[in-house]
Formats: sequence, C-alpha cells, structure tokens
Amino acid sequence: MILPLYRPYRYRARTEDYKTPISATYPPVLPESLGPPPVAVVTVYTARQAAESCLGRLRFPPSLLPIARMGTRKKVHAFVRVRPTDDFAHEMIKYGDDNKSIDIHLKKDIRRGVVNNQQTDWSFKLDGVLHDASQDLVYETVARDVVSQALDGYNGTIMCYGQTGAGKTYTMTGATESYKHRGILPRALQQVFRMIDERPTHAITVRVSYLEIYNESLFDLLSTLPYVGPSVTPMTIVENPQGVFIKGLSVHLTSQEEDAFSLLFEGETNRIIAAHTMNKNSSRSHCIFTIYMEAHSRTLSDEKYITSKINLVDLAGSERLGKTGSEGRVLKEATYINKSLSFLEQAIIALGDQKRDHIPFRQCKLTHALKDSLGGNCNMVLVTNIYGEAAQLEETLSSLRFASRMKLVTTEPAINEKYDAERMVKNLEKELVLLKQELAIHDSLSNRTLVTYDPMDETQIAEINSQVRRYLDGTLDEIDIINLRQIQEVFNQFRVVLSQQEQEVEVALRRKYTLIDKNDLAAISAIQKAGLIDAESHMVGEPDGQSFGLGVVPFSTKPGKKSRSKKTLKDQVSSSARKEGVSSPVSGKELDAASVSKTQLVPSSKDGEAKDVLSRDRETSSIEPFSSDSPKEEARSARPSTPPPKPLAFEEFKNERGSEINRIFKENKSILNERRKKASEITQRINSIKQEIDVTKEALNFQKSLREKQGEYENKGLMIIDEEEFLMILKLKDLKKQYRSEYQDLRDLRAEIQYCQRLVDQCRHRLLMEFDIWYNESFIIPEDMQAALKLGSSIRPGMVPANRVVSLGEDDQDKYSQLQRTVLPEGPDSISFYNAKVKTEQKHNYLKTMMGLQQTHKK
Ligand code: ADP
Ligand code: MG
Repeated sequence: MILPLYRPYRYRARTEDYKTPISATYPPVLPESLGPPPVAVVTVYTARQAAESCLGRLRFPPSLLPIARMGTRKKVHAFVRVRPTDDFAHEMIKYGDDNKSIDIHLKKDIRRGVVNNQQTDWSFKLDGVLHDASQDLVYETVARDVVSQALDGYNGTIMCYGQTGAGKTYTMTGATESYKHRGILPRALQQVFRMIDERPTHAITVRVSYLEIYNESLFDLLSTLPYVGPSVTPMTIVENPQGVFIKGLSVHLTSQEEDAFSLLFEGETNRIIAAHTMNKNSSRSHCIFTIYMEAHSRTLSDEKYITSKINLVDLAGSERLGKTGSEGRVLKEATYINKSLSFLEQAIIALGDQKRDHIPFRQCKLTHALKDSLGGNCNMVLVTNIYGEAAQLEETLSSLRFASRMKLVTTEPAINEKYDAERMVKNLEKELVLLKQELAIHDSLSNRTLVTYDPMDETQIAEINSQVRRYLDGTLDEIDIINLRQIQEVFNQFRVVLSQQEQEVEVALRRKYTLIDKNDLAAISAIQKAGLIDAESHMVGEPDGQSFGLGVVPFSTKPGKKSRSKKTLKDQVSSSARKEGVSSPVSGKELDAASVSKTQLVPSSKDGEAKDVLSRDRETSSIEPFSSDSPKEEARSARPSTPPPKPLAFEEFKNERGSEINRIFKENKSILNERRKKASEITQRINSIKQEIDVTKEALNFQKSLREKQGEYENKGLMIIDEEEFLMILKLKDLKKQYRSEYQDLRDLRAEIQYCQRLVDQCRHRLLMEFDIWYNESFIIPEDMQAALKLGSSIRPGMVPANRVVSLGEDDQDKYSQLQRTVLPEGPDSISFYNAKVKTEQKHNYLKTMMGLQQTHKK
C-alpha cells in the first residue's frame, strides 16, 4: 500500500503559514470588553484547525456533566453583626481598630475564688464587625460580591447564625414592611435582576424556592401558590452528579423583580401562618431561600452555559435550649435544633480540617440540604448575629466561637459550566458541513473529484473486501488510498478476511485431521503405542463424537468402486465402527483432551469406511478393558513378590485379559493370509491367461501370413477371412477381457492386503501396549500407589513407563543403597521401616511424574 504524504493546506496565497486562519475568529468567543459582536463574522479556518477544534470539543465529557472551572482557594468570610442596644456592654466587648477583631473580657466570677483557672479574655479575628451598620452597608459588605459572582456562574451561600432575637431574620429578610430596612434577600433579588438587565448578551433565567426545615421535616414555604400541585409524597433530599436538590420542593420561574418579591412575601407569610396554626416557634426552624440562575449566551451559538445558585440561610436560634428545663414539644424542638446546629458545626469543623476527606453532611436535613453549598466550590459568607448586652455574653461567646471556626473553612469557588447537548449537536453539525465544504475545495484543487466522505454502504464495503482478498492472493498489486474512512475500512476488512481464513483453515484441518496438542506427551505416547504414529510421526485417527476414534490411512482402492472382496472385508472389519460414538479402547478418558488440542495432526479416513479394527464389537462386549476407572472384575490373587518373566506373562495375558484383542489380532492375520493366498491364485491365473494370449496371437499371425501367401480375396473392398481365423480373433478378444478383469481384481486385492496389513500391525501394537499396561499395573506399580493415583487422574497408572514410576531418582537410589548398607546391620526389624520409607519416596516420585504429565496434559 502506498500512503499519500500529508500535504498541508496551502491554497491561500496571502499567508505562508497555513496554521493561521484568515480571520482569527476561532474559537468564536469574543471578550466582553470588545462590546457587542459584529453583525457578521466571516470565519475561515483551515481544515486542520477545524479538526483540532472539533477534537477539542469532543474531548468534553459526553455525559454533559457540569464542569466546574476551578478557581483559587478562598476562606469563608465571617462577619459579626451586633444588634443595636442602649445597654451595650462597653467594658466587656471591645472592637479592634481595623474593625475586624472583637475582644471579650469577662469579669472573674468571685464565687469561684480569687485564684481559679477560669478564662476571662477572648479575642476573635473576623472579616468584619458590623456595629451600628445599616442594612445597606451590611448588604454591601456581606452580599454584593457573592451575588454578582453568582451571575458569573459561582454558587454562593450566605448564612445567618446566632441566638434568637439577635437579628438573623432582620439581617436576612429585614423588615418586610419597610423598604429601607429590607434585608439581604430582597436586595439580592434586586441585584440579580439589575445585573440581568445590564447583560443583554445573555439570556438568564431566574428561579426561586423557599424551604423550611422544622424538627427534621421539610416544608415548602411556596407550596400555597396556585400553580404548585399538591405535593403528595413528602419531600426528600436527592443527590446526583449535578448536586443536591430537594425532590418535591416547588421551584418558581420569575421573570422580574416584582414576581420575585411576591414569592418572598408569600414565603414569609406562610412562615408566620404556619407558626400560628401549627403552633411553631419560627425561631426554631431553618429557612433556606434559594435563587437559581441559568445563563445562555444570546449572541454566540456556544453550547456552553452557566448555572449557579445562591442559598440564603436563616438558621434557627443557636441558644442552648436544653438548659432551660423545657419539656415535651419544646424539648423535642430543642433537641432537633441543638442537633442540627451541632451537626452543622461538625460539618464546618470537618470542612476546616484539610486532612479530613469525609464530611458528615448526611447527619441531618440541614447539612444534607446544604451539602453542595457549604464549603466546596462556592463563595460562602457567615453573618453571626450577637447581642451587645452583658446578660447574653455566654451565648455571644459561643456564637463567636462558631464564627471563628467557620473562618477556617476554605472553599474553592468555581464556575459551573454545562453543555447544552442540543446546541452542541447543532454546532457540530454546522462544523461538519463546513468541514465537508473545506474538503470539497481541497479535493477539487488536487483533482480528486470523485472522492466522497460519507459513511460507506454495504456495496462499498464488499468492494473493499474483494480488493483485500485480491491483494492477499496476489491478483491486485496495490490498494489505492482514497480517504481516511476507506483506509480504516481496508484495515477492517483485512481483519475480517484474516479471521475468515483462519476459520476456514481450521475447519479444513478438522475435517481431515484430529488435532492433538504437541506438548501433550501422554496423549502422544498413548497414540504411539496404539500404533497411530508411523516412523515419520504421521498419525492416523479421527475425532469421534466426544472421544477419540482411531483410524487408518484410507485404503488406496478408490471409494465407490465395486469389489467383491472389499465388501466382505468391510463387513468384517468395521461394521460397528461407523456407528456414532464408537471408539477404540484407547479412547475416552485418556485421550479426551487429545481430541480438543491443537497442534499435532492426525489424518483421518476420508470415506469413513476404514476405522479402527480394535473398535469393532465394542458395543457388544469385549475389549472393554483396562480403563483406570473400571473396577477390576476378577479378584486377583495376591501378586507374586517378583514379577513373572515377560514371555510367560504375555502368554497369560493373551489367554485372559488380552484374549479378545488377541482373538481380533489372529482373525485379522487370518484374513490377511487368506487375501494373500487369493492374490497369489489370481496372479497364477493371470499368468496362464497371458500365456494363452501369447499362443493365440502367434497362431493368428501364422494364419495371417498364410492368407497373404495364398493371395487375398476381396469382395467390393472388404477383406474375406476364413472361419478359423475369425474364431481365433474372437478368442483373443475374450482372453484380453479376462486378463483385464483379473488384473483389476488383483489390484483391488493388493490394496486390501495393504489395508489388512496395517490393521494387523495396529493390533499387534495395541496388544503389546495393553500388555505393558497390564504388566505394570499387575506386577510393577504398588497397589496402594495405584489406588492413590486413580482418583481424578486422567492417565492410567500403567501407561507411565514403569521405570519412571517405580525407580528412584539417582540420588534416591544412592541413598537407598547406602541405607541398606548402613542400616540393615541394625537388624531385620528395621527392614519394614526402611521399606516403608522407600515406598513413600517411590510414591512421591511417581506422584511428581504424574503431576508433571497431567500439567502438560492440561495445557
Ligand atoms: P432572630 O431572627 O435572630 O431571632 P430578629 O431578626 O427577629 O432576630 O430580631 C429580633 C428583633 O430585633 C426584631 O424586632 C428586629 O426588628 C430587631 N432587630 C434585630 N436586629 C436589628 C438591627 N440591626 N436594627 C434594628 N432592629 C433590629
Ligand atoms: Mg428569626
């Protein structure tokens, strides 16, 4: 294949550098400082740039999860607001000159003695002390930045903390009856809508919700609005990758400031009504007013958009309620408030501890609902409301402690960027069109007019497949490169063709051969013993169902040719072998693995006629044999201490265990002899026919010359011969016919003889192999060892060469003889001890061998 050189895109004459677009408007983001974008921007960028930008886009997470652009770390801002009072404790509360610190001095409690360890002075450093501060100033100090950053995509949380009456609600909501004294909440809404008006380039939607948490129950303070359906299921806090939200809480779209205020008042009213009707103490509930914003650019078709929310939290009174000896409902409230505030504190402490990776948000509804608004990626501000009076000093101290803890928390405000899937698709489609146009220009400039870039259809793929095939078989010299898609498809088709060919080869091999693993020594040795591997290690055999059937190389006589003798032979040899599942005695367990292994090939008989001679009559009886898991039928009398001589044992084997195989062996031999006899008869007959042919030919020649001498008679151009000559011609013809027929028979017979010879050889191998196994099992391998090895073994103990089984390793042998020399003098009693030792060692030796064999077997 010839790959074309990538030639950079250089048709523009104006610039040398193809990397620089004509007008640098990609990515099409205009800084806001440039003012409104021009009416039309002609964007021309190179294919490569487009591709890069496209790739850049595709790298965005496909799930369209919000992406928070991380900013720098930032501490929580903690302010203190002191409630104005005529009775301000000047000696006890002092502000620093910077207006950021507050010192508390407590007079020593004289009752606890002059010398005591009671702490009397505290100093708190905060971000600002708001003393005698107007609502306006408070808003500017505390909230303005948080709100304006929210419009840029940063989440914000403003929380008021403090004892009841200290001014939390005043700070957060303010006096609802006085515009001047309105709190953070209405001011924030105002700021949001003002800023939206200042940003015509963006379509910003605002939604609000108002949640109250009272005694660990969630209440929707805006549920009374007409367009809110009755919430059937109780509200639940749900977490998803986008953050935490409250399922069942109504969220209201507000398009202008006024609507937003109405919602706020609605909520406040509901809060008061609920306090009356449900007899709730409103200072004991937490209220969370949330403003949600979503900003899409109006001017850019950017699929990016930003979301943010501002949580404005008015917490329940932080005073320790339990102490006042409250009972019943009040106690329950106290418990809930104390708990939720202390959980809030725990979460704050955990957030302030850099080493903590688990923050206990889920301990109560308050922290759970604020999970993504405490710390994390948002701007966070705490306003601690305190009394300036001496009587409240203890609660004041506790509130200031909370504030200074809060100050330790760091957050990492980040923009919440999201991707509008629909817009993204649209943009990508546009870009795709552009790229196609770009390609078209490119192609026309390089005279490649016929190239298309659409996905390939079946015909095109089929064409590529055929090209690949032609390339592989050499009829095609090159595959022309057209485009990337085509290159990819060419590689694809290479893979397809390769795997198809692999399969074809394997199928063809399996049709012809049985595959045996080359490393499977046991299987190979079994097959060698069974006579299935000839000198050149060519093997014979065929897979037979699950097991392994032995076969022989097909008979040389062509299949389909009628032969009397062949038919009988067939009957004799393999009547049952063709039946399914019939296999040789070597089959089954021992060779199961062999039939599925891969590397060694065993040619099998093509026509299925020639099958293992040994397998005949298998079903009806007989050779059912020496399989390791078939229990020995005859109870063997105690085995002799020394093994009998092999020739003797062989005679015994032939009469007993091996009688059946021996019978078959003999039968095959007699068939072979009978065939040989017949062949010699036919040969004799052929010879005599040949002689007669020669004689007749001679006589005919004589007649012919006689006729020529006498002068030929002709009748109208026809030769006239006498009757004698005519008869001789007929006879010769007949003899030749006979000769051919006999000769054909002889050829068939010879093929049969060859086949029978193989069967006989195979039988002999088999007989000897079975004898070896039988001999090993009967006389050589100790019985206990056999028993131990039978379990789970796939190799018959007797199959392992006896010398490997019972011999000791050389070292062991040495040790043994040494033992005999040194120990036997200890007395005859020691013999059994050492015998046992030797036997154990033998057994281990054998086990090792077997394990080794089985491992290679498994591979
Ligand atoms: P909390 O919500 O903490 O229980 P409130 O905000 O309800 O306390 O305040 C209790 C009372 O004190 C209200 O009547 C409120 O108007 C008044 N108040 C609190 N802080 C101020 C302040 N800074 N200026 C004027 N009045 C205040
Ligand atoms: Mg309040």
